[in-house]
Amino acid sequence: MRSLSIFGATGSVGEQTVDLLVRAGGAEAYRVVALTGGRNLARLAEMARDLRAEVAVCAEASGLSELRERLAGSGVAAAAGPEAMAEAADRPADWVMSAIVGAAGLVPGVRALRHGSVLALANKESLVTAGPLLMAEAERHGARILPVDSEHSAIFQALVGEDIAAVERIILTASGGALRDWPLEALARATVKDALAHPNWAMGQRITIDSASMFNKALEVIETREFFGVSPDQIEVIIHPESLIHSMVGYRDGAIIAHLGAPDMRHSIGYALNWPERSHLPVARLDLAQIATLTFRAPDLARYPALRLAREVMARRGLAGAAFNAAKEVALDLFLDGRIGFMDMGSVVEAVLEAMDADLGRENAMPTLEDVQAVDHLARRRAGEIARGRAGAA
Ligand code: NAD
Ligand code: MG
Repeated sequence: MRSLSIFGATGSVGEQTVDLLVRAGGAEAYRVVALTGGRNLARLAEMARDLRAEVAVCAEASGLSELRERLAGSGVAAAAGPEAMAEAADRPADWVMSAIVGAAGLVPGVRALRHGSVLALANKESLVTAGPLLMAEAERHGARILPVDSEHSAIFQALVGEDIAAVERIILTASGGALRDWPLEALARATVKDALAHPNWAMGQRITIDSASMFNKALEVIETREFFGVSPDQIEVIIHPESLIHSMVGYRDGAIIAHLGAPDMRHSIGYALNWPERSHLPVARLDLAQIATLTFRAPDLARYPALRLAREVMARRGLAGAAFNAAKEVALDLFLDGRIGFMDMGSVVEAVLEAMDADLGRENAMPTLEDVQAVDHLARRRAGEIARGRAGAA
């Protein structure tokens, strides 16, 4: 029986992973080692009981007694806090889903790679903050990282049987998010509610806002560079409002291989779960005659400073990704709290990268986990200071 763990089981990707497991037979078909969640202890306990997990871990130490109570008599062990989360990743499992949101997903992912698992990686922040480190850990321990981000799963699938050296370009599709048809002048006034109205994908709150600002696509461009090892100038972004082409690979003979499917994350989660085979998945089938047209347009960089910043981060590499991601996470929190405007997210992140120029070290150096964590902390502090400074000046 295959063993598996899910980090971030109570989130959007986590729930869809659980859905596929339950449909495939749940505890009768898989040995579930660890399930982790954040604050939704009721749901975490419920899924841990249903899937007969060995251990359930919640993010905050203060949740331990409630989680214990909810699991009483179930045979599932309860644990809490970041160290317990990392220890859960030390429990060997054949397949590990990394679906925590944000930089908190990095340590469990790195620890899971150390016992040679397949790591299904939804947590793109791991590759953005510590790409070279993650890839080197996988190599050292004979572990396999499979992308779960829909674009990267599409690219991975379009590369099967091909030589990466024959790739000319990788074309990432972007829906453009909730605000794609707003006039540029109006974006500064966009509210959280406006930015959450994603046209195609139902996802967690943070990634939905990041889709509207294209910070999500900026992270994905960096993720592409780190995972597939192509050069930044080979990576393009195109707005494709229908979200039916999940991304494309262009080869040196001019051929482009595209991956199409309904906008349903269970495509890429299921591909990673069943890899290298394909199994039936409960996703909608496309009716191409009914769809009739697919449209594309170039992204306007004035609307999306994040895309320009991603280029700077890739040119610099090293610790720039860790600073970029941490500053972005703080800017997003400030926007969610109504403390800064929608377009301020880009300018705060840009100001943090400028202020930290001297802290980011040599270009292209291989960072350690400690370096990444130190830069992450510093970038969070700088982002807070910069945003407060502006609020004071306003
Ligand atoms: P989500 O917010 O719905 O869920 C995140 C999960 O992480 C939850 O279980 C939450 O409790 C947990 N969590 C949050 N903070 C934590 C912390 N500090 N420590 C431990 N656990 C914590 O997020 P999501 O939309 O499922 O996204 C998860 C990851 O997958 C992100 O990296 C995102 O970019 C990526 N992703 C998501 C989608 C999608 O469709 N939702 C698509 C592609 C990639
Ligand atoms: Mg994506």
